[in-house]
Amino acid sequence: MYNCPECKIQLNKSLNPAGIIWTCPTCSGKAISVYVLKKLIPDNIINKLWERAKSCKYNVRRECPICNKSIPEVPIVNEDKTIYLDICAKCHFIWFDGQEYESLPKREKETEKELSPEAREALAKFQVKIADERYEYVYDNVWLDMGQAIVETVLFMIFRRF
Ligand SMILES: [Zn+2]
Ligand SMILES: [Zn+2]
Repeated sequence: MYNCPECKIQLNKSLNPAGIIWTCPTCSGKAISVYVLKKLIPDNIINKLWERAKSCKYNVRRECPICNKSIPEVPIVNEDKTIYLDICAKCHFIWFDGQEYESLPKREKETEKELSPEAREALAKFQVKIADERYEYVYDNVWLDMGQAIVETVLFMIFRRF
């Protein structure tokens, strides 16, 4: 289990569509892997942070919530405000204090912007279902065609509302 580097208590695991986010129940700090972040925040931000974390130019302050080693604090300017993020180049994890993660600009997917939350959920469920069926009936082409037809029907039903 991972601990908050500030409060030293266990982080709660939560599943975001992009992957796992570890959150401190007391200070709301978050540990998020670079791979998950790549799906959530724009490339230029994550690339800059990662480059800086690997440069060994910055002072170490906190301990990594994953490996407990001291890790560098990397500055990044966000809307004229400098925030410092603790990054472990070994574990590929970034620690965000309080609302630091929320303050960063997010990556937006065109399709997700257009769909209502219910439509998105329905689509996600169907995609999971179809994926399972494809796995089980991978040699049955007739069934694959049927799966595709179901997805198309659902997509049609969702988009017709707009
Ligand atoms: Zn905490
Ligand atoms: Zn680490």
